[in-house]
Amino acid sequence: MTEHPENDEQYASLSVNSGVSQPPIVNPYLTRRPRRKPLPAASELVEGILKGDITTLSRAVTLVESLAPEHYALAQEVIEKCLPHSGNSRRIGITGVPGAGKSTSIDVFGLHVLRDGGKLAVLAIDPSSERTKGSILGDKTRMEKLSQHPGAFIRPSPSAGSLGGVARKTRETIVLCEAAGYNNIFVETVGVGQSETAVHSMVDFFLLIQLAGTGDELQGIKRGIMEMADGIVINKADGDNVGPAQLAQAQFRSALHLFPPTQSGWSPEVLCYSGYYELGIAEVWEMIDRYFAFVKENGYFEKKRQQQARWWMYETIDEQLRKNFFGNERVEELLKKNEGLVLANRRSSFAAAAEVLKYYFDSLKA
Ligand code: GDP
Repeated sequence: MTEHPENDEQYASLSVNSGVSQPPIVNPYLTRRPRRKPLPAASELVEGILKGDITTLSRAVTLVESLAPEHYALAQEVIEKCLPHSGNSRRIGITGVPGAGKSTSIDVFGLHVLRDGGKLAVLAIDPSSERTKGSILGDKTRMEKLSQHPGAFIRPSPSAGSLGGVARKTRETIVLCEAAGYNNIFVETVGVGQSETAVHSMVDFFLLIQLAGTGDELQGIKRGIMEMADGIVINKADGDNVGPAQLAQAQFRSALHLFPPTQSGWSPEVLCYSGYYELGIAEVWEMIDRYFAFVKENGYFEKKRQQQARWWMYETIDEQLRKNFFGNERVEELLKKNEGLVLANRRSSFAAAAEVLKYYFDSLKA
């Protein structure tokens, strides 16, 4: 008996080939783990960065942002080698509440800065970006014109971790961008909460974008943020909003008079502009130019950068120590136990802290 009855001699005109076996439903090649690309050598990355190669720069920034220890080590090596080539830029922090017009403004400020050539990196610090998946900050479509400019490098905020961690990554990215020849750096942050302090600790000039017409301009912002600002700019000074913007300008100016003198000796200025209609952009930039001329002349520019470098050293130590301490399992248990005792009034806060710390310090010696 043949496999197929149709192949019997009586059906002379018909023959059926033996079939092929069914392929498996799942492609066996795909179930294998994809092979990881080997990590490049630090020198290879540094070479690409110094040549201004954007792909290499992006790759290095990804390593800086990575949580994998081997990436961290490689990133540190690259940063170390890029450091002597960094520093030659204007670092400008830009903040404002959501809706203040940061994206619109950065788009036009960016093009203004690039009008005579040069390069611009736009970075962001948004500790909430895990929740929003980076959609508030750093989304390229927000800066439509700038993102198409060959001299611009736009990078979203590192995804969330502690604010300190996110900020450190941005700070390290600045080094890489500068080594790649970016002579203008914008660091953007949402004007709510603590991230302004972090941005302030890594920029030369801090620009606060404000809006008029809300009736409570001065109450709405935290005094601390205003005190950090080297320039306050009131956006959307167009159409019917010109009058209210000018009023807000006058209010901010008189409010600034009440603040103590700044360390730099610079008197923060207040200007009106419209990002959307591109009005007053050159004036904002002239103010920033004036600031840089002023602080380079009186030595504050260098002094502030040194202060920041020192601050970051201690900040990093602080962060790593905390991470090591709170990441210790036994410490966690002891903390829980002691917290219970403290809350039940059975142990003093200090005795509880001492017990946990003693365990931790002893464990370091072991
Ligand atoms: P961000 O959240 O701070 O980044 O703000 P956006 O740049 O996204 O701007 C928020 C809204 O304000 C958008 O609808 C913009 O079109 C609008 N906007 C931004 N700048 C101006 C401006 O100068 N004038 C006017 N009238 N609207 C503006």
